[in-house]
Amino acid sequence: MCYKTGQIYLLPTGARAGAGVMVPAARRRQYGALSRLGDPPVDDLDLIIDLHADGPRQGPGGADETRLALTLAGLPGRTDLRIADVGCGTGASTLVLAEALDATIVAVDFVPEFLARLADAAASHGVADRVTPLRASMRALPLPAASCDVIWSEGAIYNMGFEAGVAAWRQFLKPQGVLAVTELTWLTAERPAALQAHWAREYPEVDTAAGKMAVLERHGFSPVGYFPLPAHCWLDNYYRPMQQRFDGYLDRHGHSDAARALVQAERSEIALYERYRDYVGYGFYVARKVA
Ligand code: SAH
Repeated sequence: MCYKTGQIYLLPTGARAGAGVMVPAARRRQYGALSRLGDPPVDDLDLIIDLHADGPRQGPGGADETRLALTLAGLPGRTDLRIADVGCGTGASTLVLAEALDATIVAVDFVPEFLARLADAAASHGVADRVTPLRASMRALPLPAASCDVIWSEGAIYNMGFEAGVAAWRQFLKPQGVLAVTELTWLTAERPAALQAHWAREYPEVDTAAGKMAVLERHGFSPVGYFPLPAHCWLDNYYRPMQQRFDGYLDRHGHSDAARALVQAERSEIALYERYRDYVGYGFYVARKVA
């Protein structure tokens, strides 16, 4: 189903589209819509990739939080695990999983530049033999049915929508297989109207943890663990390193309108998070497939 060039497995169709990284809020809907139409090219996707490729990660998260989730999932100590890390980016979570577990991991993303960096990082961490980068769309994972012990996905499932992703990925898990994903979550029952309006517009699926767990249950999963990502996963691990790249990025692109718009959209998103972080964040959801 796929063929190999260098270290990266490519799908013959070469899906390429929709920004998958935390797309600036103003653009998220646009790319989401394009992506739903079947992954056509997007003009400034290269600009987005260039802003994110050098980052330690392409979305909020942290190594300690990845390890906490895999402990909640009961994975340490198990042997010969088959894992798919979906929307892996440059591999922040992939490397933690590869180092912590006895596992082979298929690392799936549709941005070849991210996968190339992941392949380099896997080699320098000595885990290249257990990590296979795979260029594919998360909407059509080229994996055999019931082949995975674990599907992992940090900061990525929103690209196809939480419910659609949960429903679509279930078939790739073995009975009792583990799904571990992070997803935008309301942290309180109520929230300021401006925040509610923003996310209702940009990602209408945002919900409380109770609502997300109900989705998991509706689709044949039993929730086994949840925790909200601490603020440092957003600020120290994702936004601050990005802010430090802004000046170099703008210089590199001659302060073009498109590059400035992208940076401005990121700045707005950062300001929104800083203001409202008590109300909204990422939840880490760990669930077991009910056979
Ligand atoms: N898991 C990584 C990256 C999160 S950013 C981390 O935590 O750092 C979201 C990732 O999803 C990006 O790397 C983006 O390229 C990828 N992505 C977005 N839409 C996708 C799609 N339709 N198919 C495959 N990957 C996609």
